[in-house]
Amino acid sequence: MRLKVLNELKDESLATAAAQKIAEVFGLETVVEAAKLTQPEQAYDSLRRQYNAAILLIQLEPRPELLLLLTERDIYVPGLNFVFGYAPGKAGVVSIYRLDPIRTEGHADPKLLLQRTVKEAVHETGHLLGLRHCTMPGCVMTFSNSVLEVDSKNDTPCERCMSKVTFLRLR
Ligand SMILES: [Zn+2]
Ligand SMILES: [Zn+2]
Repeated sequence: MRLKVLNELKDESLATAAAQKIAEVFGLETVVEAAKLTQPEQAYDSLRRQYNAAILLIQLEPRPELLLLLTERDIYVPGLNFVFGYAPGKAGVVSIYRLDPIRTEGHADPKLLLQRTVKEAVHETGHLLGLRHCTMPGCVMTFSNSVLEVDSKNDTPCERCMSKVTFLRLR
């Protein structure tokens, strides 16, 4: 199974690191490509000044392989103030907007940004493969609503989640 990382980030090394970790964790073949969104403004809500994640993803489908968009756009899904990521089907998105230490800590921290981005990319890929949220402390599939929660989890799924991925992929 192949996963295409569609990169909108200025710093491509984040996408490369995420793709490597996804390949290592899930055994997927990964490639990084520059993202070309035809009409991202269709997803923009000018009152919220955020992008609707579901509408952004519509522009990526349909494709045969799994897709993960990495973006700096601030994203939301209706009912939530924001999300770090969203992956309802075969295509998902991770936004670094609220993961970036420039905003959360008030100063740049490339290493911390990389760790957070990798964790959320692995998390959304878990959803693409059919995993749901997990309650095991430290599991990358736990739901994160704050960067504190992102920072306190690992960049890999727990054993139970990994065994489910193996099962889901065999179906
Ligand atoms: Zn999730
Ligand atoms: Zn788990």
